[in-house]
Amino acid sequence: MPLVNPANKRSIEIVVVGSGLAGASAAATLAEMGYKVKCFCFQDSPRRAHSIAAQGGINAAKNYQNDGDSVYRLFYDTIKGGDYRAREANVHRLAEVSANIIDQCVAQGVPLAREYGGLLDNRSFGGTQVQRTFYAAGQTGQQLLLGAYSALERQIGMGKVEMFTRHEMLEVVKIEGKARGIIARNLITGELERHFGHAVLLGTGGYGNVFYLSTNAMGSNVTAAWKAHKKGAFFGNPCFTQIHPTCIPVSGDHQSKLTLMSESLRNDGRIWVPKKKDDQRKATDIPEDERDYYLERRYPAFGNLVPRDVASRAAKERCDAGYGVGVSKLAVYLDFTANTERYGRIEASVHNIHNPDKETCMRLGREVIKEKYGNLFDMYKQITGENPYELPMRIYPAVHYTMGGLWVDYNLMTTVPGLYALGEANFSDHGANRLGASALMQGLADGYFVIPYTIGSYISKELATKAIPLDHPAFVEAEASVKAILDKFISIKGTKSVDFFHKKLGKIMWDKCGMARNAKGLSEAIVEIQQLRKEFWSDLRVPGSTDEFNPELEKAGRVADFIELGELMCMDALNRNESCGGHFREEYQTEEGEALRDDENYAYVSAWEYKDDVKFELHKEELKFENIKIAQRSYK
Ligand SMILES: Cc1cc2nc3c(=O)[nH]c(=O)nc-3n(C[C@H](O)[C@H](O)[C@H](O)COP(=O)(O)OP(=O)(O)OC[C@H]3O[C@@H](n4cnc5c(N)ncnc54)[C@H](O)[C@@H]3O)c2cc1C
Repeated sequence: MPLVNPANKRSIEIVVVGSGLAGASAAATLAEMGYKVKCFCFQDSPRRAHSIAAQGGINAAKNYQNDGDSVYRLFYDTIKGGDYRAREANVHRLAEVSANIIDQCVAQGVPLAREYGGLLDNRSFGGTQVQRTFYAAGQTGQQLLLGAYSALERQIGMGKVEMFTRHEMLEVVKIEGKARGIIARNLITGELERHFGHAVLLGTGGYGNVFYLSTNAMGSNVTAAWKAHKKGAFFGNPCFTQIHPTCIPVSGDHQSKLTLMSESLRNDGRIWVPKKKDDQRKATDIPEDERDYYLERRYPAFGNLVPRDVASRAAKERCDAGYGVGVSKLAVYLDFTANTERYGRIEASVHNIHNPDKETCMRLGREVIKEKYGNLFDMYKQITGENPYELPMRIYPAVHYTMGGLWVDYNLMTTVPGLYALGEANFSDHGANRLGASALMQGLADGYFVIPYTIGSYISKELATKAIPLDHPAFVEAEASVKAILDKFISIKGTKSVDFFHKKLGKIMWDKCGMARNAKGLSEAIVEIQQLRKEFWSDLRVPGSTDEFNPELEKAGRVADFIELGELMCMDALNRNESCGGHFREEYQTEEGEALRDDENYAYVSAWEYKDDVKFELHKEELKFENIKIAQRSYK
């Protein structure tokens, strides 16, 4: 990678949109290297980025457990986990830098969990047979973000990063084909602002909220990526959505948020349903031999730790077949009894209690479980009113993560020169299914270790470019187009709220482009979404005005973009006549109900180009596997 010397870096301005793990780590690192950075987020503080919600952990190939881990194995697990739909070179780089991330975070003082002797502890996540997940209780994202945020704040304090909170980027400014800045709205005053950058980086997160109900933070949205898409950045694999198997089931029509129970719980919990259909007994009254530990039965080698797509589909299959539990019957049990007792027995031994009775084991074991997952258990109890230390949790799959995103090359640059995408906002490393604890790894890899190197490749050719004045016609035009859209929202003065449209979109997406999809449903969904878009633009009601704090106006913009994205997701899912990872086309499955890939015709990344008036053109990036033998995935 070409380098940029320190004196030149000082005259280069970089706009970073996003202050989650990807954006904050990139902004802090680039400023540390000497670039002049402007960083934007729509929350009131960088540390409120959605990354803070991450619970379970972050992967790294440290092999601390001496259980056979290596850079190659992490690389292999990730490619296989993604059902052979990710680019080999990027994933190998991710595996290589994974170990550096842990060192970086420990150096920052991130309190990752440690064993008694002081060494960093690991736990298991899905899709692997080694323990490589580093964690900080059930709040790993929060602690990692505090690390990145501290590094960012340090640079802000030194005047090397200018931070713009409560600012929403609403347009990319392109001059002579290159990204040269953004238009952002000050969310407090409503004012539109122009910001120049020699390069623009988007670390703006994922778009799971297109489904309305998801585990994502309420504010997470696709707007920044979608504006970039409409300015020429291709969108990669938009239909690849991750449905997480362990979430608290939907409880009613008026819900606006779903809650994740971290995958780390599958480390110690066993998943089961009653063997008898429509069994009305309490979970604790169902004897052991009348329980179906269906993941352990179907996938003996990986058991409860199969990847998320596999576990989600298996839960759906059991519920659809009539074995679901709870009032809705759309839930399965996640039970900690066996491991609580096992931990208790070890603790008893440690405390010199010989031949402990079951009650003693359970009491001591609960303390261990509390230490590991206490905040998650509390959260479950607060939401459901049931005590998971006494009764198994009820869980069901929910939308959680989007593998799709802006298409980027090896250097993380989109198809617009100078415009980069990092973290969940890009399509990158996870193929058709992300393994647990790999998003934090990827976001921090992109920000701390990839972009600081790869950006030099572009910037080294931009040294002669002086800061472009903000009255350049491209800035004026971009601002005018943003203003026109905002004014339009207010002027419709229809009868329906933004949420009305968002909920409707979410239902179409979940029913027809969710955990299972088929050609008929997807074709119907495309027509329904087009109708919804028409209705949105003619019957939307947004109160207030554009020049004030107006959350309904913010939501209107985000939902308008979600509606267009939803259509593209359905088109992408319809185009991909195969099943792979989280993309399960009902027409393409093995006899055992597993995803059936078509490598001959679909071993490519779909990269969609935006054409005027919500039309899209498909480009294909062929995937070549030179270091891993492509095979039917098996977790048996
Ligand atoms: C409940 C939950 C638990 C999870 N647990 C784990 C886990 O244990 N391990 C794991 O690896 N992954 C986990 N994930 C996934 C992981 O948290 C995310 O993929 C990751 O944190 C995304 O980071 P990011 O930096 O890409 O984006 P985000 O953290 O979403 O940050 C986006 C940033 O962009 C800003 N932004 C967005 N749009 C605009 C705009 N238009 N203008 C200005 N600013 C904008 C936001 O303000 C924010 O600062 C979890 C996800 C969820 C939902």
